[in-house]
Amino acid sequence: MEQSAIANQKLQGGCFCGRVQYRVQLPVKWCAHCHCEICRKTQSAPFVTWFGVEKINFEVLRGEADIAWFDSSQNAQRGHCIHCGTPLFFVGKNWPDEVHITRESANADIKQVPQIHVFYDRHVSYFQVDDQLDKFGGHNGFVPLAINPKTAKESNE
Ligand SMILES: [Zn+2]
Ligand SMILES: [Zn+2]
Repeated sequence: MEQSAIANQKLQGGCFCGRVQYRVQLPVKWCAHCHCEICRKTQSAPFVTWFGVEKINFEVLRGEADIAWFDSSQNAQRGHCIHCGTPLFFVGKNWPDEVHITRESANADIKQVPQIHVFYDRHVSYFQVDDQLDKFGGHNGFVPLAINPKTAKESNE
């Protein structure tokens, strides 16, 4: 869908028990699968799908006091519902103007399909990703990996 057509549309989401509810204004900035150790451990999942929005397009509608924030690294904090544990938010120094939100906490289509895999070189061995999306890894999780069709092509030229 054209970005202009979805501009200013609102999308709601929240945790499993419903005490925390948020709203974002579309369009989202991006959507990506993350395979880093912290995502995998804190959500006990093989990878986590996130989307990013500008902070100005994000608001907590209900349950601000029900969100527990913790330092997941020196540079970032994550927020989850204190009652049901649903992981919801990520904010980090590397993205000062953004809130990152777990895709599955959204109540409807975010109008952006996942675009890339990050920290892909850390991916688990028991689940095979079978898609054509570009994959990134390396020291910061965002270095293009040689397995990418585009990257492989460029290195041959
Ligand atoms: Zn909850
Ligand atoms: Zn991650």
